[in-house]
Amino acid sequence: MNNQSMSQKRVLVTGAGGFIGSHLVTYLKQQGYWVRGADLKYPEYTPTDADEFEILDLRRWENCLQATQGVEEVYSLAADMGGMGFISRYHAQILHNNILISTHVLDAARENGAKRLLFTSSACVYPLHKQQNADVTPLKEEDAYPAFPEDEYGWEKLVTERLYTRYREEYGLETRIVRFHNIFGPMGTWDGGREKAPAAVSRKVAMAKLTGNPEVEVWGDGEQTRSFCYIDDCVVGMHKLMRSDYAEPLNLGQDRLVTINQLVDMVASIAGIEVVKKHIAGPQGVRGRNSDNSRLRAVLDWEPQISLEDGMTHTYNWIEEQLRVRLAQAQKVG
Ligand code: NAD
Repeated sequence: MNNQSMSQKRVLVTGAGGFIGSHLVTYLKQQGYWVRGADLKYPEYTPTDADEFEILDLRRWENCLQATQGVEEVYSLAADMGGMGFISRYHAQILHNNILISTHVLDAARENGAKRLLFTSSACVYPLHKQQNADVTPLKEEDAYPAFPEDEYGWEKLVTERLYTRYREEYGLETRIVRFHNIFGPMGTWDGGREKAPAAVSRKVAMAKLTGNPEVEVWGDGEQTRSFCYIDDCVVGMHKLMRSDYAEPLNLGQDRLVTINQLVDMVASIAGIEVVKKHIAGPQGVRGRNSDNSRLRAVLDWEPQISLEDGMTHTYNWIEEQLRVRLAQAQKVG
């Protein structure tokens, strides 16, 4: 190890082969950290920027011990997860796998002497009854209780938040908890069933553009609402929270509410085409969800900066390119 690397803070990013994890690794490298990534897989769309990358199943305790060796800080992102189609279907698998991953990573990090850990929780912890209208009141952190998340995915996040909090109180670990609200951007899953709304909408619009069939399927009436936060803001916010002294759960998202229909129109206009929405049955999740960013602003003196239009333009262009390559390959094979 040379002098420069000895002075670098050593961090672990679990889930470093995933969407947010791979972007976070790149950002942390830019900030001067030594970074180890761990995941079941390498990032799918770019080589990793991590100094070390270990392929490990983090449900297993001994693999977590290996992953957390010699690091001071851990960003805990690994999770079995996907968009609404996935998390509203595979409850047993999600609850089982994520409990194992979250618990073993936290405990192994403690055993190996890590000092600071950040857990990536989700807006899915918020109770169903606070999200039943499309013009929903933005969710404040304290709204998580009394608890009634919609899916097992949210229950696991809530329980792990509590586990982190107890490890801080009883074992003195510095823990941080971030609740993401729909993070999107390029180099995320865009097909196959785990993709989320911004990627799915981009793929469907790109398909309409490239095939000339203007029909775009939308799950439900499309009037369900969400806020969406661009990945570059997400990694900046995560790092700011890790460096802060704030240990309670904190929302990280945008607070601009849009319907899925509006999102489709926005993407169609980015693509430069007219589409025909076809509303079909499908999982929609809660009717409305938005982030109350009051505490985020107060704690970090910052909030996400990148507009939905700019973020969706980057995301759409990347997905259109992926689809173009895919269709060209299929044509060659055919
Ligand atoms: P992602 O699916 O792209 O990344 C998760 C990564 O975890 C994947 O690369 C996956 O291979 C890895 N993983 C799963 N099981 C594993 C195992 N047993 N061992 C090792 N690695 C394993 O998802 P993402 O969008 O990058 O999400 C990252 C984190 O943020 C997750 O904890 C997720 O629950 C949370 N989150 C994301 C969003 C969002 O909008 N993307 C919203 C709320 C919370």
